[in-house]
Amino acid sequence: MDNWLLYALIVAAIAIGWWLGRRDRSKAPETLGPNYYQGVNYLLNDQPDRAVAAFIEDLAVSPDTLETHLAMGSLLRRRGEVEKAVSVHENILRHAVLERSTMLSVQLELARDYMQAGLLDRAEATVESLVDEPGQIRTEALSILLEVYEREKEWDKAIAAAGEIRSVEPNLPHRVSHYYCELAEVGLGGGDADLALRCLRQARDHDATNARVLLLEGRAELERGNHDKARHALTAILEVDPRRVPESLDLLRAAFADGPAQELEAYLEQCLERVPATSLVLALAEQKRETLGDVGVAKFIADYLKRNPTIRGLTQLIDLHIDNTSGAARENLSILRSFTEALVVDKPTYRCGECGFAGKSLHWHCPSCRQWGTTEPIFGLEGE
Ligand SMILES: [Zn+2]
Repeated sequence: MDNWLLYALIVAAIAIGWWLGRRDRSKAPETLGPNYYQGVNYLLNDQPDRAVAAFIEDLAVSPDTLETHLAMGSLLRRRGEVEKAVSVHENILRHAVLERSTMLSVQLELARDYMQAGLLDRAEATVESLVDEPGQIRTEALSILLEVYEREKEWDKAIAAAGEIRSVEPNLPHRVSHYYCELAEVGLGGGDADLALRCLRQARDHDATNARVLLLEGRAELERGNHDKARHALTAILEVDPRRVPESLDLLRAAFADGPAQELEAYLEQCLERVPATSLVLALAEQKRETLGDVGVAKFIADYLKRNPTIRGLTQLIDLHIDNTSGAARENLSILRSFTEALVVDKPTYRCGECGFAGKSLHWHCPSCRQWGTTEPIFGLEGE
């Protein structure tokens, strides 16, 4: 499809060249140089890349041909040919005598090329002056700056740039909430739970439904020894975003450690009614082991698996039975266990709901589509 588009553009370029030549024959030699005809040769010889290069060089940039140049630049960027896209856009800026607003738009395109090529410094330098422009140019420049700061992990700068964006962007408060979470994680990494909690208050002000805020709050309160507050934050996840509850299990065990065991058990049962997750069943089984014993726990897991079969649950069930069997039965169970383990060993446990990127660890910022908070645990037979 892209190749088809490329050919269409080249044909459009030829048509424009022909039209310019027809319109004013006296100007033809200036607008259509030898490279232009060389470009046609490349095209006829099935060498579209060299043809594009020749056209860039020889199709004069003017208000008449600007759209063709811009379309060619954005097509090349989409095809991943960033260097060529840069040369198209630089060529426009170097040669065109265009309206100021058009030139600024081309600068934005050039900054996007640099972003895609990973040249963050150059992208930042290109848009820095554009944030002083009015209207849409300023908004788009700020949005590119925001992406630069995200990639550089400059969270303070990202928060400041987001604060400057005046247009309504529905996802922006959620993104800013994650920037504050990133700062909170830095605080926690440096042993400063107070700083983390201050950042988390800001994070919650921007998005009260962000479960990551509650997870980090639970962690920070635990570090300060406030088990009550930690429990309060962590159990709120069930209301805000139930699918994130499995993420909080380790913290929950620590937060409920100083209270009666039944409290955690009751909370996990409440969670399981809302989220059919294997990790919750296994955590609950662990809590029940003291009262039910191994046989009772195995029955509890088996009952759950009948309704929601998962390979992880089955593996755990086999483990419970292996301990209570011997001889050939034990050997067979061991073989079965190695099969179930092999079935999930290479399977991802998280997937981005936006782009489908999957892996074994949770990324709050998807490395593929760069959306925030879109990666969730995989549920079903091979997952939770
Ligand atoms: Zn994604």
